[in-house]
Amino acid sequence: MTDPKSLLALETSPPCFSAEAAAAFARDIFGIDGPAKPLYGERDQNFRITPAQGPGIILKILSPTELESAVDFQTIVLDHIQAMDPSLPVPRVRRTLAGDAYAFVKDAADTPHMVRALDFQPGRVMDDVEPPPALLRDVGAQLARLDRALANVFHPGMGQKIVWDLRAIEILRPSAALIEPAQDRALVEAVLERFLAFRPHLDRLRHQPVHNDLHPGNMLVDADATRLTGMLDFGDMIHAPLIFDIAVTAAETVGTSLDPIAYATEIVAGYDAVNPLQPEEFGALFEAIIARHALAATIMAWRKQNDPEGAEKLAALAGIGIAAIQAFLAAGKERVVARFRAACASRPSAGLTARRFAVLGKGLELSYEEPVHLVYGQGAHLFAPDGTDYLDAYNNVPSVGHGNVRVADAISRQMHWMCTNTRYLHETVVAYAERLTATLPDGLSQVLFVNSGSEANDTAYRIAKAVTGKSGAIVISGAYHGITEISAALSPYHGPQAQPLEPYIEVLEVPDPFRGRFTEAAPYAADADRAIAALQAKGLGVAMLLVDSAFTAHGITAAPAGYFAAIAAKVREAGGLVVGDEVQSGFGRMGEAFWGFARHGVVPDMVTLGKPMANGHPTGAVVTRPEILEIFQRKIEFFSTFGGNPVSAAAALATLNVLQEEDLQGNAQRTGTALRAGIASLQGRFPLLADVRGAGLMTGVEIFEAGQPSRALAKRIANAMRRAQVLIGTEGPQGNVLKIRPPLPFNGADATRFLETLERVLAGL
Ligand code: PMP
Repeated sequence: MTDPKSLLALETSPPCFSAEAAAAFARDIFGIDGPAKPLYGERDQNFRITPAQGPGIILKILSPTELESAVDFQTIVLDHIQAMDPSLPVPRVRRTLAGDAYAFVKDAADTPHMVRALDFQPGRVMDDVEPPPALLRDVGAQLARLDRALANVFHPGMGQKIVWDLRAIEILRPSAALIEPAQDRALVEAVLERFLAFRPHLDRLRHQPVHNDLHPGNMLVDADATRLTGMLDFGDMIHAPLIFDIAVTAAETVGTSLDPIAYATEIVAGYDAVNPLQPEEFGALFEAIIARHALAATIMAWRKQNDPEGAEKLAALAGIGIAAIQAFLAAGKERVVARFRAACASRPSAGLTARRFAVLGKGLELSYEEPVHLVYGQGAHLFAPDGTDYLDAYNNVPSVGHGNVRVADAISRQMHWMCTNTRYLHETVVAYAERLTATLPDGLSQVLFVNSGSEANDTAYRIAKAVTGKSGAIVISGAYHGITEISAALSPYHGPQAQPLEPYIEVLEVPDPFRGRFTEAAPYAADADRAIAALQAKGLGVAMLLVDSAFTAHGITAAPAGYFAAIAAKVREAGGLVVGDEVQSGFGRMGEAFWGFARHGVVPDMVTLGKPMANGHPTGAVVTRPEILEIFQRKIEFFSTFGGNPVSAAAALATLNVLQEEDLQGNAQRTGTALRAGIASLQGRFPLLADVRGAGLMTGVEIFEAGQPSRALAKRIANAMRRAQVLIGTEGPQGNVLKIRPPLPFNGADATRFLETLERVLAGL
């Protein structure tokens, strides 16, 4: 194993030429004539040469131990940056009068030293500046430009072994034993261990040449400290994970007016705007930032013991590291990553509510009394621009979780290739249709792709009409099935006053054992006889029955066992087709079964799909039997421009893969059952929770006040939950049912947070 000494020893004695000698070198070798002013240098002896005109140069006389290859390395890198991004504030390498990057001079003992020159860069060192947010953003942005410029340069010197490479932690770890006091030592050792455990993940991240030392001592800023004017010292460059560069700057660029995470957040956001980070890099950045602090503390401790003079030079670093590690760990990785990502995603959006109403219309209601502005999501969590974290217990569309990387990658990748329509051969749409139909009962084997649940229901009705030759349709009272002319007609959701029923539609009494007239299936099912007779009496006959088997719009009512099967049998007997609207209940949400209809012992003739199908990418479908589709396609030339396009198919396939591989149906079953048990356990203390029901991660909670359903109280609870950072909705014909329907990765910890928040909110009413 490498001896830490070989990495840690500081070269502390730069050469000692006189200022007169330096001025003579500048004049004779570089053709710059002016006085020489000595500057500090750790290894090189540095002079600023100021000629009568122009900004002048920094003349560097190198220690005799310095290798020519190291100077070549820096020259190649700086020339490359100059070529890639000429306005980046990095030093340019001045050539000698002979056109070389360096020359040799001799000291009194006849020892040769390399001498080289860089253009002088104006500005003051950032070290003694309290960096305002605008400067931090600029630092991030300029570092991002630097990394973009560095991406494709190569020199064997980038393989150098240096102590400030986070991957050297393994070698330095024993030196952490020297850290005092003991609690700091324990903290640093824990972070080092944590980074070593994380180490294998680094190998999967983007690698490239990185500066690796852009701390405030190596940055210059303008007079009012709003812009970076110089980036110095390319001596620690290595080939490493890209995030190392951000970690160094984000860890060390701190002041006293903000919390340490805020400084890092501004830098990361500035960086990402220029050189976008990849999703997995955010978490790695958290690890690298705390590891950088732990590494610095370890190096400090080693120097104190072995190299007191070197330690003094690093003394400024001491202290900030421990406090920063504590701040990052106290906030936790998830929250810090969320703050980073939210800051990267957010754009200034002053007056957004008013602007939105102005261009989208007043009628498009916003959820909650205090609207929620969201910029980033992960799993069942959503985040505001300032990083405020909401638990999402409402959204069913991102069924495999917000910001799902596999779905996002599938969409992006396919969009980069091409996106066209289903009239050309394409593997993905066929593969997806095969995979989808494999999850459905035998017979439901052909797929017609559309773009939404509304289109799917609209199309299902057209198919039913074409196949049966009838035109009557039966739906449940208060159901919601969509926004097109037909699917809206099939949606008596807004009530007969707002929307009179079309003559071809009959509605059935809601099978609701909690508030309805009966608790058994048979008397509810008998209503289908009446509806069928009515349609027949009008001479329309029955084309189809359409049922959302989660009974979502009705308040997630618990239809009595056998109800759906009974009405399906009656409709079939009358010659109609049975359509399962799986927009809400499909794709594993109900826990007990992958498809909602399966919980009711029914195999529909058609199913309609939408919302969760592609995790938010607009995709819908009708799945049916070949003999049904055959009749429809013979009669009607049906083609959807976007339906089943390769991007939608890729999104849907990725979604199905995640659903199955992560067993999200199983999670829905387990977590949903525990969640309802938890809510039910609050009923004793809070009798306003009149009924708790549902399946999987689809839950309805009936809210009563003074023995009556209360829309106002349900709204108050939803708004109070929102203020407590948990998102739910209200539903049902009287608007008094809490709708709790989270993304399927909603886990045990999320359920606990939900229950604790609900209890607090109810206690505070
Ligand atoms: N069917 C059901 C059961 C629904 O809940 C919805 C949407 N809420 C739709 C159909 C319509 O889907 P979309 O909004 O995608 O058109």
